[in-house]
Amino acid sequence: MIDITSYNENNIFAKILKKELPSEIVYEDENIIAFKDINPQAPIHVLVIPKEKFCSFNDFVEKAKAISITNFMKSLKTVTEVLKLDDGYRLITNVGKNGCQEVPHLHFHILAGKKIGRLTSQD
Ligand code: 5GP
Repeated sequence: MIDITSYNENNIFAKILKKELPSEIVYEDENIIAFKDINPQAPIHVLVIPKEKFCSFNDFVEKAKAISITNFMKSLKTVTEVLKLDDGYRLITNVGKNGCQEVPHLHFHILAGKKIGRLTSQD
């Protein structure tokens, strides 16, 4: 199980952020990078991560400055505009064990490109 109580500098998204690992970046600004998920679950599946280091959504809301939260959300919206998701999309952020979070750096999934369907699987 991943640790989301303290930030792990070696997590895979930290390496993508530092450009130590390749990724297909679709948008980047001073707040975030957005890149394609390696295992897409929809025709469009993009991950959006803050440049600041937070383990999870909880960590972000508890520790980030209000301006960082606002800027992150605005940049996240900008990604949906860059991707031209006029027919809609789903945002997901998984937290901890029951959320099935795999990577301990805050990320939002943007799923789009078709009707996404049910909110959760049955397993
Ligand atoms: P989580 O389950 O933590 O919410 O989602 C982690 C996501 O990261 C998964 O959808 C997984 O496919 C994606 N992922 C894991 N490793 C890599 C990687 O090295 N590159 C990219 N682009 N995506 C990754």
